[in-house]
Amino acid sequence: MAQYFVGIDFGGTNTKLGLFDSDINLLKRSSIPTDIDLECDALVEAMGNAVKELVSDAEISMDDVKAVGLASPGPAQYKKGIIEAATNLPKLVNVPMRDMLSDAVGKPVVFENDANVACWGEFAIGAAKDAEDMVFFTLGTGIGGGIVNRGKLLEGSGDNAAELGHLIIYPGGRKCNCGQRGCVEAYASATNTAKRAAEAVEDGFPSTLKEVLDKNGEITCKDVFEHSANGDPLARETTEETARALAVLCVNMLHTTEPKQIVFAGGMIAAGDALLSRIKHYFNESIWHLRKETVEICFATLGEDAGIVGAAALAKFRTQ
Ligand SMILES: [Zn+2]
Repeated sequence: MAQYFVGIDFGGTNTKLGLFDSDINLLKRSSIPTDIDLECDALVEAMGNAVKELVSDAEISMDDVKAVGLASPGPAQYKKGIIEAATNLPKLVNVPMRDMLSDAVGKPVVFENDANVACWGEFAIGAAKDAEDMVFFTLGTGIGGGIVNRGKLLEGSGDNAAELGHLIIYPGGRKCNCGQRGCVEAYASATNTAKRAAEAVEDGFPSTLKEVLDKNGEITCKDVFEHSANGDPLARETTEETARALAVLCVNMLHTTEPKQIVFAGGMIAAGDALLSRIKHYFNESIWHLRKETVEICFATLGEDAGIVGAAALAKFRTQ
């Protein structure tokens, strides 16, 4: 009986693959570079071959693989399995990725947005494995989001629910890449945390970060948290603003879907308790007293594997 699952995390630089048993234990992993110059059929062929190689390297027959999960960047029509225009993948415009990969490997393919997949990974076996209702944020260049409500991913009428980075927290505020103003992403993503600090330094606010900017030509989010820990007032105010913005996001999510857990992932969580304790502080300061202590705010546990784990777990869930 088919009992194995393959999870694929399809990214603009690398495509990561994992082979999992039916309890979503990782048995074997591999990775291939994503060649962005390839036409879609060549790209899918390379991906299909990587799946077959991974499975045969583990001395398992493809007959024993039940389904493949594919985590893909958007925007896409996820129910139809069509990538509309992937960021960093200029050749993939309106391509039926799911069905092409399914033909290449001869297995059902479950296709989903990468943030939703990482969310599902944390829900299935990660930080929120005991919660039926959870919200997930990933803090990177932008802020990705996912919502599990009563054990199911929230998808929306056009498959684009849970674009949580574009919830507006400051009307008329900073301009976001999406064109709106005041999105939480414009303040509290890793990129925008660094950008706010760099802007203040360029505006002449005194800070130890000036030396970093002069030397490296840029300031990273990691720099900001490091200088904040060392007591630089500008860096401190910048990280506090990030924590405040994320706390407002948590309050809004609590009132929307009433999760048991809110899970943060992405590079910024390397800041550790300096981030988490401040989000909790501002959350407790802001939240309606009746909802105090009804939600656990925590960090993700799957790290870089969230994509492959979530893709395999979602493939299992949707082919049951
Ligand atoms: Zn936005």
